[in-house]
Amino acid sequence: MPAPSARTPADALDVLIVGAGFGGLYGLHKLRSLGLKVRVLEAAPSVGGTWYANRYPGARVDIQSLEYSYSFDEALQQEWNWSERYAAQPELLRYANHVADRFDLRRDIELDTRVEQMHFDEGARCWHARSADGRAWSARFVIMAIGPLSSPNTPAFEGLSSFEGRVLHSAAWPHEPVDFAGRDVAVIGTGSSAVQMIPIIAEQARSLTVFQRTPAYAVPAHNGPTDRERERRIKADYAGFRARNRKMRSGFGSELSPHPLPAMQVSDAVRDAVLEERWAIGGFSLLGAFTDLFTDMRANEFACEFVRSKIRSIVQDTTVAAALCPSHPIGCKRLCVDTGYYATYNRANVSLVDVNRAPIERITPHGVLAGGREHAADLLVLATGFDAFTGPLTRIDLRGRGGLHIRDKWQPGPLNYLGLAVAGFPNLFNLVGAGSTSAFTSVIVSIEHHIDWIADCMQWMQERGHTTIEPTEEAESHYVELMHAIAQQTIFLSCNSWYLGANIPGKPRLFMPMAGGFPMYAERCAAVARDGYSGFVLH
Ligand code: NAP
Repeated sequence: MPAPSARTPADALDVLIVGAGFGGLYGLHKLRSLGLKVRVLEAAPSVGGTWYANRYPGARVDIQSLEYSYSFDEALQQEWNWSERYAAQPELLRYANHVADRFDLRRDIELDTRVEQMHFDEGARCWHARSADGRAWSARFVIMAIGPLSSPNTPAFEGLSSFEGRVLHSAAWPHEPVDFAGRDVAVIGTGSSAVQMIPIIAEQARSLTVFQRTPAYAVPAHNGPTDRERERRIKADYAGFRARNRKMRSGFGSELSPHPLPAMQVSDAVRDAVLEERWAIGGFSLLGAFTDLFTDMRANEFACEFVRSKIRSIVQDTTVAAALCPSHPIGCKRLCVDTGYYATYNRANVSLVDVNRAPIERITPHGVLAGGREHAADLLVLATGFDAFTGPLTRIDLRGRGGLHIRDKWQPGPLNYLGLAVAGFPNLFNLVGAGSTSAFTSVIVSIEHHIDWIADCMQWMQERGHTTIEPTEEAESHYVELMHAIAQQTIFLSCNSWYLGANIPGKPRLFMPMAGGFPMYAERCAAVARDGYSGFVLH
């Protein structure tokens, strides 16, 4: 462990981790195994992070569970048996709890502890954290493991507080069951959360009105019980399977290869056959069908039109089908993985309001006024997403050297180096945030990568007697320029996504994740380490 400075408080932790989701749990396990004094602070009354908070009906993972799971422990990955191809939220939460118990993590986790303040002390070269209830900690290193999607976005709809029914947000769902029977429900939003909950709510509610701003591309999950033969095959060489996945741009999906030719170089018949095959397999496999779908708008348009034709074949009312057909490039916003989403619009109790044609004017005591018409509702669901990447950090009083607030530092956008560190914020690492490829990978692959890199870095510092590490502003700006140059070669800048901050009014429009693919990103991080942490200043 890096040497403490003479002024570091004697009771300072080696590492303080904020968040006990999948990132915090693995971080605690790994760093504790190196002999470090580590503490995890978690705002919720439970471990599980995203899978504790996002418990709306139908919430489940959109990457197959055999791939959306930890790889760091062979016994863990062998003994855990997922019940479904895509695990639902309760099973994912059980898994997080199992990991906490199996690795005896709870003794170093403080639940119900929301960190409100985190200040760097330049003299003592350590961080001081304070919780909402006034408790305090000091630590030489901090890992922010609070996730890129943990700051719910509640749009400022006029009249929201006048609504006399119940208002729920997809990302802050109540723990007791919500009874939709006999209710008139309004759902605002049609992203992944809405796409998962809409079919289930529609089956129970008296009426369901969906308010859509941007139609979603949704591909069937074809969820079902785990294929035990596939599971046996994977588990026979789980380490090899994980290693092959880490060679994929997305960190998963190595069982399928893209067609050997780009979409632009094959006939219509071949293209349709390949896309049809991927539709039958389900999930993200569609976006891996051809190598040029993310880089060539014309190729992308073939895949868009393929999904639009599916929508038109499923949805009986042609006007509704047309309204559900997206016009932006597929994959530009995160693809939704669904179960019965489009078919739900064939139900007599479901209606769609296109807010581009009928803008939401205000929320009334008894519903939603849009386009001059009041749509009755006694339950209003905001499936309106998150202030992604920056929101989770900027809502904390997080100050680095010279009292620099992260909000001020990130006013022009989330400057960072390798997605892991920020100039002016020494010894603070950010997990799966802006600058990381996490949004395009199975996030657990990114989490394990980041934690392993951070652990190696801490050991390296210890061996050389360094106390602090911080990126230079120059390395940071080169890295951000690289991110933008890569994004410009893709389709990602051509729609209003949360990757760009475009869902939050007033947020700088800037592409925040690294779109270069996981292998390229991991190699870059490895090269920085091999070069003695080039781009960082060490003391
Ligand atoms: P989202 O994708 O950002 O969707 C939010 C929806 O609300 C969008 O349709 C958005 O429209 C709409 N909206 C926002 N503000 C609005 C306003 N003022 N008026 C009308 N509509 C408004 O959020 P999400 O569905 O919670 O998903 C976020 C991410 O979380 C996903 O992309 C995914 O990465 C992750 N997630 C994953 C799963 C899973 O399958 N495992 C499930 C849920 C979430 P616009 O599109 O026009 O902005």
